[in-house]
Amino acid sequence: MSEKPFSKEQQQYIAGFAFGADVARAVNRLPMVSNCVAGPSGNSVTVGGGAATVDGKVLPVGPERIALQAQADCIAAGKKLCKEEKAKQAKNPLDMWDEIQARSDANEFPKGDDVFLTKFHGLFFVAPAQNSFMCRMRLPGGVLHSRQLRGLADLSEKSAGGFVDVTTRANLQLREIPADHAMNILYGLRELDIISLGSGGDNIRNCTASALSGIDPSELIETIPYAKRMHHYIVNHREMYGLPRKFNIAFDGGGSISALDDTNDIGFHAVQVTDENANETLPAGVYFQLTLGGITGHKDFARDTGVLLRPEECVEVAGAIVRVFVKNGDRTDRKKARLKYVLDDWGFEKFIQAVETEMGRDLRKVDSSLVVIPDNENRQAHVGVHPQKQNGRQYVGVVLPVGRITSDQARGLSDIAETYGNGEIRCTVWQNVLIPHIRDEDVEEVKAKLDLIGLSCDASSFRAGLVACTGSAGCKFAGADTKKHAMIIAETLESQFELDQPINIHVTGCHHSCAQHYIGDIGLQACQVEQGDDMVDGYHVNVGGGWGTRKAIARLLFESVAFSDIPALITAIVGGYLQGRQDNESFVD
Ligand code: SF4
Repeated sequence: MSEKPFSKEQQQYIAGFAFGADVARAVNRLPMVSNCVAGPSGNSVTVGGGAATVDGKVLPVGPERIALQAQADCIAAGKKLCKEEKAKQAKNPLDMWDEIQARSDANEFPKGDDVFLTKFHGLFFVAPAQNSFMCRMRLPGGVLHSRQLRGLADLSEKSAGGFVDVTTRANLQLREIPADHAMNILYGLRELDIISLGSGGDNIRNCTASALSGIDPSELIETIPYAKRMHHYIVNHREMYGLPRKFNIAFDGGGSISALDDTNDIGFHAVQVTDENANETLPAGVYFQLTLGGITGHKDFARDTGVLLRPEECVEVAGAIVRVFVKNGDRTDRKKARLKYVLDDWGFEKFIQAVETEMGRDLRKVDSSLVVIPDNENRQAHVGVHPQKQNGRQYVGVVLPVGRITSDQARGLSDIAETYGNGEIRCTVWQNVLIPHIRDEDVEEVKAKLDLIGLSCDASSFRAGLVACTGSAGCKFAGADTKKHAMIIAETLESQFELDQPINIHVTGCHHSCAQHYIGDIGLQACQVEQGDDMVDGYHVNVGGGWGTRKAIARLLFESVAFSDIPALITAIVGGYLQGRQDNESFVD
């Protein structure tokens, strides 16, 4: 492995840190040149003048026709549909129930295009990482009831791996599902009133909201009701399943836990119009700012459109935006098929005009200087005990390092929520859970009960901000074992530092960026690194990411570092920050 001097920026990050001999050796061995091998990387159409046809078949009239027409238009323009579009054209993935049942009965996994199409039902065949399914749910706003979590714990023990994962969309996943248990899972979820339809494939993913909706003293507006309304709109409109690619929608109520709305295709962010700025056409009150095009894996945040919406308008507008995207998204190149690329191509003005045409009315445009955007975020509000806006009640943010709980722990959390709260459990985009509505006098008992199931609401600043995707233990795209490595990094840092400020470390397995490495203070993206004759797990190291009022895409600092060197390198970076900071300067400052 070549040895190269540090660049100026690298030196700045680790300057002033008193290296131990091992750390210095580890850091000095870092390669500066990429030697990364990343993880895996004619129909006959008639349109116009009557019914559109594909291969002589008349396209059905109904919601699916929008997507089929978009495919037909694409072919008519002389373009070639990508293979996923051809698969969707050949078979409507929403009509695969009988096939999935038959395969489950025959103890078989899907093959070929059916692997992709089965994801529309929330079932991901994750070979070669594991010879099993993963099932992702839809939990609008991240909320579930103790009855549901207890049922999921039992279901996981019976038909999956005996654990439950919390995801970065405040959602849950079951893993290690054998082929002949696929339908047990789909039936089991329905019995628990949980839907998985559209949680994978080219669909609108779990609609997220502020995790403290309704209990946060600092929020402008409750958002979970709107995430639920959006969710039910999606599941009751078949055209919401005809997208060129996946799609994310988030509602942020302006409170202390960010919903990371600026990382979504559509972000609704609560703002206020004060009496001072109000006028006849713009009454004072709470509105949602419409932002579009967030996709941090492609290094872009959602940007303000200038459109201001009354809360009750959001779902209708989102539906129109999705329809415009269904009609105009790229169906030839998967890498360019997200909403961001329509916006890049058209510009915001043309896109908003298309949405207005779709809706048959104009949208309210307001200069951003007339709205007040709240800045109430507390980066540690998702862990620990905090007062609610309801007198005498607190919520407890439980730490779930890298988001995994066993079935026993899930049952334990359900018991606590039922005994001491109102039975509600809320998942957050930070891969942990909150138990709300605990009486002040019960807080210590809740802590003791958490301790009995091996969980806690106290976390170091490292563990509280630790986010990791599934990684190579369960995802075929991964370049490294992210969850395991994230835990090793946290343990290493905890053994050396006590931090008074949060530092977010996001560990993601590939360019899909499920753990959003570009918004972490430190963001690691997995890759395979050459070490002698072998390829080993490694990471690209990015620093300086953020979201919300401090949004920033992290910059690449070190490329292709073997994992064996990563704990020492991160230690050096954090040590450099602690030694070099002034006053209480945060990592990103
Ligand atoms: Fe899989 Fe992680 Fe890549 Fe997402 S980011 S696709 S979970 S390896």
